[in-house]
Amino acid sequence: MPLQNFAFSTAYVMVKSVEPRIIPRKEHRISRKHVSPNALRTLYRLHARGFTAFLVGGCVRDLLLGRTPKDFDIGTDATPGEIRRLFRNCVLIGRRFRLAHLHFENEIVEVSTFRRAALPSDSPGTEETGPNTRPPHHRKDEDGMVLLDNVFGTPEEDALRRDFTINALVYNIADFSVIDYSTGLSDLQQRLIRPIGDPRLRFTEDPVRMLRAVRFAASHDFVIEPAAWEILCELSSTISRVSPARLYEEIQKLFLFGSARPGFTLLDKSGLLAALFPSLSRWTYENSRRLALLDANLECLDQLYRSGAPASPALFLAALFGPSLQDTALALHREGIPHQQALDATCAMYMKEISETVSVPGRVGGRLRAILALQASLHRMPPRRPASTIARPEFGEALAYLRFVAETRREHRTPLQWWDHFLLETPSVAPSEPPTDELPAKRRRRRRRKRRGARDTAA
Ligand code: ATP
Ligand code: MG
Repeated sequence: MPLQNFAFSTAYVMVKSVEPRIIPRKEHRISRKHVSPNALRTLYRLHARGFTAFLVGGCVRDLLLGRTPKDFDIGTDATPGEIRRLFRNCVLIGRRFRLAHLHFENEIVEVSTFRRAALPSDSPGTEETGPNTRPPHHRKDEDGMVLLDNVFGTPEEDALRRDFTINALVYNIADFSVIDYSTGLSDLQQRLIRPIGDPRLRFTEDPVRMLRAVRFAASHDFVIEPAAWEILCELSSTISRVSPARLYEEIQKLFLFGSARPGFTLLDKSGLLAALFPSLSRWTYENSRRLALLDANLECLDQLYRSGAPASPALFLAALFGPSLQDTALALHREGIPHQQALDATCAMYMKEISETVSVPGRVGGRLRAILALQASLHRMPPRRPASTIARPEFGEALAYLRFVAETRREHRTPLQWWDHFLLETPSVAPSEPPTDELPAKRRRRRRRKRRGARDTAA
């Protein structure tokens, strides 16, 4: 048996060996009061029709921690067709693996049929091929990354295909119990992010899990289990195998939901930062004060989130890349290139490099450039035609960026005070809001149509 297949079956047996633990209602803290009424109605309806219906994934983890879940996901043994027949507001999405999205007024509840992970026989070189074979439901590439993951399974198999033990807990609507198929509860208590099964295998199957580990450690103030952390650091460069579109989605979740600062520290320590953004990583290493500068910017980003006014993707990019872009542009300017031209050239160069790994939409990249370009007008004292500067669509984000950098650099405080004072004195000139389509969607389609030869698959 090839080594890779052996490693996989070992992991699979390891995962299977833990007996499910059922925690009755009176022994856990999940109350139906904290579950979205739409998700509850969906669970009850599935149950009333004789189907198994669980809350699954991050919402169970967060309810057990007393946090408000971002969204509610449901797992069931009803097939996509059965789900569609039961719910009129259902839209089936995904070509390979059908997921149901139930559309409510302000919420989408995702209902998915239990599925299982790839088995050893799904590894490369073991597929039967021929004119009459059906398309494979599972497939891995030659390095063991999962390309297709598409077979219905039992509730237990569904839990064990998930990324981390704390994300594999379920809440059963039949008796309001919590079921732990791995070691989720004790890891939750110990505040540990632990991959289910062999970390090397799980990070190889889907390298995006490394970013997710960092994200959960940062957002929940958990620790990545030491052995898994070591492997994560070792495999960090493989993150570039994930499709750029998926990476952009994950990166946004990491930076825009209030834990950008600790997330950035972990990205840097693990080597993920160097793999994702090599120029930025090099820039931080040239001068130790630069890391502190970015830290301060990201702390401001997190404060915005906590204050209920989350940053736009362009402002997050400005917080992260702005100082290095401005430094590079300044160096070009000193060589004789006009300032705006130097900035344009620097932004274009950076965006080209970044988009090889992370696909930042063109309009977001353009907005980042506009935020940085407006800094010159904000710093001109006294400013020329301030009312028309305020009317610019990027003014609000540009001023927010100025506020970020003024935290660490005194020379930015005078212009900031000037603009704050001006806005206070002339309330009739309100800065424009960033366009809402730039803000990250609360619930995105996780499965999307794949181009032939695309780099990876969603989980
Ligand atoms: P959040 O609070 O940010 O929504 P979450 O844990 O709910 O966190 P989602 O991206 O919404 O994260 O995913 C829902 C669930 O799907 C996860 O909890 C996990 O069980 C499973 N999952 C998501 N991505 C992966 C992956 N790459 N590999 C395995 N399981 C995954
Ligand atoms: Mg979620």
